Amino acid sequence: MQALYKVMSTENYEKKITLSRMPAMFIGHGNPMNAITDNPYRDAWLVLGKTLPKPQAILCISAHWQTRGTQVCIAENPPTIHDFGGFPKELFAQQYPAPGSPKFAKMLCDLFDVGTIAPTQDWGLDHGAWSVLQSLFPEADVPVFQLSLDVNLDFADHFALASKLVSLREQGVMVIASGNIVHNLPRLMQSEINVDWAYAFDDYIKTALENGDDEALIHIERAGECAKLAVPSDEHYLPLLYIAAIRHADDNMRFLTDTFDFGSLSMRGVIYD
Ligand code: ZN
Repeated sequence: MQALYKVMSTENYEKKITLSRMPAMFIGHGNPMNAITDNPYRDAWLVLGKTLPKPQAILCISAHWQTRGTQVCIAENPPTIHDFGGFPKELFAQQYPAPGSPKFAKMLCDLFDVGTIAPTQDWGLDHGAWSVLQSLFPEADVPVFQLSLDVNLDFADHFALASKLVSLREQGVMVIASGNIVHNLPRLMQSEINVDWAYAFDDYIKTALENGDDEALIHIERAGECAKLAVPSDEHYLPLLYIAAIRHADDNMRFLTDTFDFGSLSMRGVIYD
């Protein structure tokens, strides 16, 4: 780790104040209920949260905010969005009252040509964001702002756009992307059926990340047939590209929660720090 850390004790645990580059991470969020039930993913996020430095702001890139053109949320107080159906009232009652960060959202816009990123008040924190932030930063005291996924871009375009975000890490912004490497809802709970395709694709991505092979991450068709089943739509995969694109050559990389939920849902995460 290149960053120099100073440890600050708080009431419940130690938080580190970073003096240098912030980590960037991709979290496999999976089932929204992971936010409130006892499960190994939430446990891992809670443990991770206690080791993370405290950033000035968090930029969140979630599978659950897709737009035409890339947008960034500049709301002062982003509402908690319950963008799902059929879950218990307890889940709908969850609130993540972190402030927004218009300041860093505008700083992000300035990294691009004018008009590339559209500021908007018309979003908040969707469940891809808050369901993991609740565990990573339970005090909700760090400003959070979201960047959307432009449905008009291809994988290479997303990677190129994401790579321009790298300087934010040096300015106290932690980038947290949230999706799933393998996400095929119709195939959930079909673990009695062969799920080799899910393991094969997850392993392909694991190897690409270990090798720093951006082309393999961008051109997932190289994984073969398994890619079509693992990524039937791109929104849960794309957030991973935003993290791979902002790694530094001297970052440490480690995997988080490298298991499968519901038989074929890859919960693998990765952190660079
Ligand atoms: Zn999701």
